[in-house]
Amino acid sequence: MRLTQRIVVIGGGVLGTMHAVAARRRGYEVVQLEREAEARGASVRNFGLVWVSGRRPGAELALALRARELWASLGAAVPGLHFRPAGSLTLATDDAELAVLKEAAALPDAVQREFELLDPAGVRAVNPALGGELAGGLLCRADAIVEPRLALPALRAHLAGPGYQWLPGREVTEIVPNAVRDHTGAWHQCDLVVLCPGAVFTGMVGHYLSSLARDGVRRVRLQMMQTAPLAQRLATAVADGDSLRYYPAYDLPGRGQLPPQAPVAERTKAQLLMVQRADGGLTIGDTHEYDEPFAFDVDSDAYDHLQARAEALLGAPIPRIQRRWAGVYSETTTGPALYHRSEPEPGVVLVTGPGGRGMTCSPAIAEETFT
Ligand SMILES: Cc1cc2nc3c(=O)[nH]c(=O)nc-3n(C[C@H](O)[C@H](O)[C@H](O)COP(=O)(O)OP(=O)(O)OC[C@H]3O[C@@H](n4cnc5c(N)ncnc54)[C@H](O)[C@@H]3O)c2cc1C
Repeated sequence: MRLTQRIVVIGGGVLGTMHAVAARRRGYEVVQLEREAEARGASVRNFGLVWVSGRRPGAELALALRARELWASLGAAVPGLHFRPAGSLTLATDDAELAVLKEAAALPDAVQREFELLDPAGVRAVNPALGGELAGGLLCRADAIVEPRLALPALRAHLAGPGYQWLPGREVTEIVPNAVRDHTGAWHQCDLVVLCPGAVFTGMVGHYLSSLARDGVRRVRLQMMQTAPLAQRLATAVADGDSLRYYPAYDLPGRGQLPPQAPVAERTKAQLLMVQRADGGLTIGDTHEYDEPFAFDVDSDAYDHLQARAEALLGAPIPRIQRRWAGVYSETTTGPALYHRSEPEPGVVLVTGPGGRGMTCSPAIAEETFT
């Protein structure tokens, strides 16, 4: 069998970049092409949550825990990731939400997730910034935070040197055996192509994705915002009770007893997640839009709802909102699959569709590609 020496990675998002990291670690030469001047997709628009708490028991939790280990070791080697093992608090504001948290804390895998059920005083001892009215909270010590806007350049700086070439502003338009061509007409020879196109379902990628669509990969659009720096430190990431409706870890009997969501939250499929950035600002989201064509504008009602939820948990106004944006990820909808990996042609590996767990799981997904 011919040994793989040189790999072309297509896509400068977190999946492409983690594949570059994993390939270099195994001694392969890597050329990474990105169509934009810098990655602008889901990987830089997310919360930077390395999120173990909400994962489905079994394979999904195992993948997230392995990824969490890999993030921690990368964080030690690459300070620019700003990896923080800050943990998270999922907060209950009524008895029904608290009942779900109690059920989750009593499960056997609560140990792996490093769950601890806290009363309101316990929540404030861990995260004093949470001054609002609470019924309790579930601390997940396994959750962590990285800086999505800084992580990719930091990883590339870590890789810089012989054996790694970063080629931004190059859209790959053609793949043939052992080579890819970018839009400038340049050919890049290789033994293996790893294609990580994110939520781009058109162009050259569309050739492969037209069959994928039948296999079940969809796109999801989310709304996000970021505030000016909060004077106080938000010691953990924070999730509200609406997150119990979305994350598979909370698919427990008590979920059926949750009261209806606020109408705007139900319409926009909103949950509150809140993370403090390294510079003090709060990243706050999110919503979920599943039907295409997606809106091209952002919905203020959803932002008003998320702002009110954040302020209720903090018991104080949030700082001025400085940025609002939307992001789109691709998500496999195929049964128990956690992401899509296929070999549409010999020597071409397509990896996409990790959904809302892509930032978390990317290092472990890349590791699986090479094992
Ligand atoms: C708002 C939001 C919040 C999220 N929060 C979290 C979170 O906190 N934690 C978590 O685990 N996950 C989160 N996710 C999910 C996560 O961000 C994604 O699953 C992950 O970033 C996907 O990475 P990717 O590299 O596959 O895609 P992308 O980041 O979209 O990167 C794909 C790249 O490929 C490039 N490309 C495509 N086609 C070509 C071509 N032909 N030639 C060259 N380049 C090409 C694109 O330009 C793009 O830069 C969130 C997602 C969103 C949208």
